[in-house]
Amino acid sequence: MVDGANEDPTQPSNVGSKEDPAQYVTEAPTPSVPTPPTGSTGTITIDKTSEIPGAGGIRIATENLAAFNAMVAAAQKDGINLLPISSGWRDPQQQIALRKKNCPDWQNSPSSACKPPTAKPGTSNHEKGNAVDFGTMCYAKGTVPSCPGNARWEWLRKNAQNFKFYQLPSEAWHWSTTGG
Ligand SMILES: [Zn+2]
Repeated sequence: MVDGANEDPTQPSNVGSKEDPAQYVTEAPTPSVPTPPTGSTGTITIDKTSEIPGAGGIRIATENLAAFNAMVAAAQKDGINLLPISSGWRDPQQQIALRKKNCPDWQNSPSSACKPPTAKPGTSNHEKGNAVDFGTMCYAKGTVPSCPGNARWEWLRKNAQNFKFYQLPSEAWHWSTTGG
């Protein structure tokens, strides 16, 4: 099970429902994003072979790398540059450091109490090499479930599922192989 990877386990992960309008401004109904199929993502490998070309040493599980690279190349053909990204795989110590930086109580705070939301150590898809953050795309110190009008986000919304990447419903910048 990877359901625990949702960065905010206290919230239902329904796309397009119950967003707090104070959190962001939207001029049109929130576009829906595709949801992933359920199932195991299998074993992962994190080593030198996991580095994303052109991403400054940021890594993703080697098993996910070909699909990610194909997605970057497809976007490029459409005139969209998905790089740089701001985060990929994190070792557990990095996740703990982020918790200490972002959360009132790094061990106990729910993800949603952190700014920005930060999953508890051991539960993040970043630690599994399954997630990337497009931090320069559409980012806020809170949850931003969509980023309408942003060219990168719009491209991902239409195309990322073809490469088996899905948005975490509560975070427009966070895309993973499980949607968590
Ligand atoms: Zn993330």
